[in-house]
Amino acid sequence: MKTKEGLWKLSPSGLYGYTECRSCFWADNHYKKAPMLPLLLNSAMDSILKARYDKYRADGAFPPEAKELEKEGIKPFEDIDTLNEWRAKTGALKVVDEGAGYELTGKIDDVLVEADGRLIPADYKSSGNAPKEDKQKYYRDQLAAYGFMFKKHGRKVSDRAYLLHYFVKDKSNPSIEVKFASHVDLVKIDLGAIEQKLADMAKLLNKSYPGHNEDCGKCSYHNGRGGIFDIT
Ligand SMILES: [Zn+2]
Repeated sequence: MKTKEGLWKLSPSGLYGYTECRSCFWADNHYKKAPMLPLLLNSAMDSILKARYDKYRADGAFPPEAKELEKEGIKPFEDIDTLNEWRAKTGALKVVDEGAGYELTGKIDDVLVEADGRLIPADYKSSGNAPKEDKQKYYRDQLAAYGFMFKKHGRKVSDRAYLLHYFVKDKSNPSIEVKFASHVDLVKIDLGAIEQKLADMAKLLNKSYPGHNEDCGKCSYHNGRGGIFDIT
């Protein structure tokens, strides 16, 4: 959708769609989405993880399962008031590019800091299953976009970001005191590349519908139902 100033509203978590299928990305951004039920279990897990990381943050440390970050010389971001603003307000890290024609807004889960002070974006991911090898591809643009937002807000930014995965350890265990396993996943980010990609996204959205994509299941589904996206 567009802002009242006529800029495309982009958010870090919605960027993977561009890589997955440009036709769906175009349609998702041109039409109001159907209301989604909130994923309450995921939000609850996010709250638990924020509280968990904050508890250790007070001592400049990470929870035991993320201790390996300390060996990398990484520390938690200590300014909790600023972090809580970035966590709560979608507009706190807003980037507006009128030339390219978009506005980028979004909330971040956590921030880490390199030994030299550069910021490292981090996102908690909770799931029923251990992350698959190729899972990074879904989140690389999201993490790079956070880095880009920091940069535009005058911060120095690292070329790495982290996914902090938490997943159910043993699904056959009938206890409701569910145990979680975790995995700290390093993701390389390129701020120049994401800036270009965001401009490309706005350019695509300013053109007419690219036509349905034969290789996309979602496009084929809609096309089979009369092609609701078949609009020029
Ligand atoms: Zn598609």
